[in-house]
Amino acid sequence: MSEKWVYAFGGGSAEGRGDQKELLGGKGAGLAEMSRLGIPVPPGFTLTTRACIAYRRAGGEPPPGLAEEVAENMARLEELAGRRFGDPADPLLVSVRSGAAQSMPGMMDTVLNLGLTRDVVAARIAAGGDARFRRDAYRRLLTMYGDVVLGVPHREFERVLAAARERQGVATDAELSADSLARVVEEFEALVERHTGHPFPQDPQEQLWGGIRAVFDSWDNQRARSYRRLHGLPDDMGTGVNVQAMVFGNRGEDCATGVAFTRSPATGEPGIYGEFLVNAQGEDVVAGIRTPQPIEPAPGAEGAAAGGLAARFPEAHRELVEVCARLEAHYRDMQDVEFTIERGRLYMLQTRTGKRTGPAAVRIAADLVADGLIDEKTAILRVEPSSLDQLLHPGFDSKAERNVLTKGLPAGPGAACGRIALDADRAAAMAADGPVLLVREETSPEDIVGMHAAAGILTSRGGMTSHAAVVARGLGKPCIVGAGALHVDEAAGEVRVGDRVLREGDELSIDGSAGEVIAGPLAPQESEVLQALEGGGSVSPAADAFLRLLAWADEHRRLRVRANADTPDDARRARAFGAQGIGLCRTEHMFFAEDRIALVRRMILARDPEQRVEPLARLLPLQQGDFEGIFAAMDALPVTVRLLDPPLHEFLPHDDRALAGLARDMGVEPAAVAARAAALAEQNPMLGHRGCRLGLTAPDIYEMQVEAIARAAAARKRAGGDPRPEIMVPLVGTESEMVRLRERIARVVARVLEAEGVALEVPIGTMIEVPRAALVADAIARHADFFSFGTNDLTQMTFGYSRDDAGSFLPQYLEDKILPRDPFASLDASGVGQLVRLACERGRAASPHLHLGVCGEHGGDAASIAFFDEVGLDYVSCSPFRLPVARLAAARAALGRGERELDSV
Ligand code: PEP
Ligand code: MG
Repeated sequence: MSEKWVYAFGGGSAEGRGDQKELLGGKGAGLAEMSRLGIPVPPGFTLTTRACIAYRRAGGEPPPGLAEEVAENMARLEELAGRRFGDPADPLLVSVRSGAAQSMPGMMDTVLNLGLTRDVVAARIAAGGDARFRRDAYRRLLTMYGDVVLGVPHREFERVLAAARERQGVATDAELSADSLARVVEEFEALVERHTGHPFPQDPQEQLWGGIRAVFDSWDNQRARSYRRLHGLPDDMGTGVNVQAMVFGNRGEDCATGVAFTRSPATGEPGIYGEFLVNAQGEDVVAGIRTPQPIEPAPGAEGAAAGGLAARFPEAHRELVEVCARLEAHYRDMQDVEFTIERGRLYMLQTRTGKRTGPAAVRIAADLVADGLIDEKTAILRVEPSSLDQLLHPGFDSKAERNVLTKGLPAGPGAACGRIALDADRAAAMAADGPVLLVREETSPEDIVGMHAAAGILTSRGGMTSHAAVVARGLGKPCIVGAGALHVDEAAGEVRVGDRVLREGDELSIDGSAGEVIAGPLAPQESEVLQALEGGGSVSPAADAFLRLLAWADEHRRLRVRANADTPDDARRARAFGAQGIGLCRTEHMFFAEDRIALVRRMILARDPEQRVEPLARLLPLQQGDFEGIFAAMDALPVTVRLLDPPLHEFLPHDDRALAGLARDMGVEPAAVAARAAALAEQNPMLGHRGCRLGLTAPDIYEMQVEAIARAAAARKRAGGDPRPEIMVPLVGTESEMVRLRERIARVVARVLEAEGVALEVPIGTMIEVPRAALVADAIARHADFFSFGTNDLTQMTFGYSRDDAGSFLPQYLEDKILPRDPFASLDASGVGQLVRLACERGRAASPHLHLGVCGEHGGDAASIAFFDEVGLDYVSCSPFRLPVARLAAARAALGRGERELDSV
């Protein structure tokens, strides 16, 4: 027996099923399933994707048995419709539509009204039929068939129509009279004949097979091939062909056509959301010439006076509401449907899972759980973690027009608008009169006050882990870095992009999620979810859905989630966002505050320990105070404090004013300070005198910090708190570095706690951020209670890309697909990931209770989190604003459905 090529549907039953998408294509499977459910669909049948494959293999010949099956199914269709195909008096008309397993816009789509001929049109008009409607139907067939089957350029048909509109003096095709259409039809026929050398086929069977062949052939057309290449779809799946009895939404004022979502695809709000056009066919809606009306108009909104679909078609509306509810209940997800109303009767033409925004995805998933349609796990798996970002940050209205000046790296999500300030001090001053954008070549610790004051940050240099990027993310500020086309001329007080010049004080907008720099002001909209997370005011339904989803995620994840936070304020916010501790407190960030930076500079520029004594003594109580605040905010939760890791250049004075001030403080000549700064200046600061190297060469600095930590913990403990400090050493690359520093840190902790009369376990561990440390992880693990992967530096040093300079070439690398993604944003699993895996294995082999975490930026990236779950880390740590993404991504990873595999470079 030969293979079954054709599956019938309609009339309350179907041979196929909704789960046969591969065989029937998405559209065919949806039509079959709706038929089974008894939902009214015009009857028809689907030629399988396998028939398409067989047709292509045979060099464009229908496989044996296909013609017979099509004929049998046409006979069944005629019976159901009560009309015959090709009947000269009153024929059955059919549509032919393509439908692959995966929707592929850009493939040939639809031919309507097959079976209509010149003689039929004449006969129907002679029998008293509506001449305008008949001719209009025929001209639609001529256009679609001419275009997609016969290859006559669409614009040629358009030209004829334009001339007809002009002759009659009307604006739209819908206004063309029966007489005008008579001439249009004649000209169309002549056009086809001129182009193809043959008259337009008047044999209905020839039309039908012409349509079927054209759909099969369209699988191999250029557009379809490029689409598949772009979306990584295989070339050998084939498309289904759906042949279906025509229903007409354009038969008069009691007819209509429309599209609907069963919930809002923008916000996820329950209720039908869609549009319809009276007396029209599907392509009229798409063509956008007439404006469709909303199905359920909001009170006061445009079209509300007309009352929507219910006012115009009460019966069909009632049925549509019921069908939508049934489809949702059946598919257990929001659907996107097409329908036609013919003489007041509703027909469904398509159903598929509806595309949605991030906020809608969250709301719909949570509401479907409440409706009992899906379980919590399914809800977690339905929401892409990255879509939470849209909810956590202000955004611009998606409908607002954007004049994009240039693009950079999307370093901090969210939208901001403000006046340009080119200098941090001016940013701080100008912020008193309204929002400001700090625009600089790059930022340094001196800019911190301006960064705090600014609504957003834009730099022309730097990569995803540059100073500006890391600080902005920590602050939750929208930020774009490495916008290379931007020329920041601080001296001239202007910014140039191409030949456009913006002056300080001009208004500018940035979309840090898209990396777009936008001319002029756009109003950012506040995030309701953020307010709810921070515990302010009433909770909107969107925020409520978000909180419910995160609570389910927490129940299902294995990885714990900590925050990178450097101040008591950050720590409090992190806790509100669900942090289970602090994974990285960068102590150098605590030095950025204005009252401290001078002391820090003096400490760094000191020629000998003697000169460091005073600044260190003054820094100690300040640090202790910070730690007390952080331990209090994170009471009973671990706080990993990292000892100083300053890229020295970030702290050196950058201008004469700073230099003079410092000289005054230190009681020396400015020239002496300048000379010392010059001596400390490095060719390659990222690989220079940083991290534990500083800790070993200037031990008193780390000793002061450890003392501050231990004293703060003791004070909290005495106050009845439960401080859980952990001390972390940065940039370790050798066992001996770890041995020496551990010994020294442990000694100071013991001395302080003994003096304070407090007993406390303080774990001491290290970052793994130098490739060598990963390679000798077993040796290092013998002296460490924990490892925390610093994947920012590990990426920098494994690739050999400077974090601060990658902005100069990385955007082009990504554009040209030399790299599949930014390795500073999403872990390079095949390279850097090997080092992480190796260090975990070797570290745990040497020390079975070794605690493992990650605190590089990758700790907040969904795809990287799936990897960290797989290699068995205990926790990830990320900036507070990324915690929700991390919580959800960790749950998805635990449910075995992490984000896409991080493929090899
Ligand atoms: C890292 O290198 O990944 C890290 C967390 O440290 P920092 O970004 O401060 O260098
Ligand atoms: Mg680092």
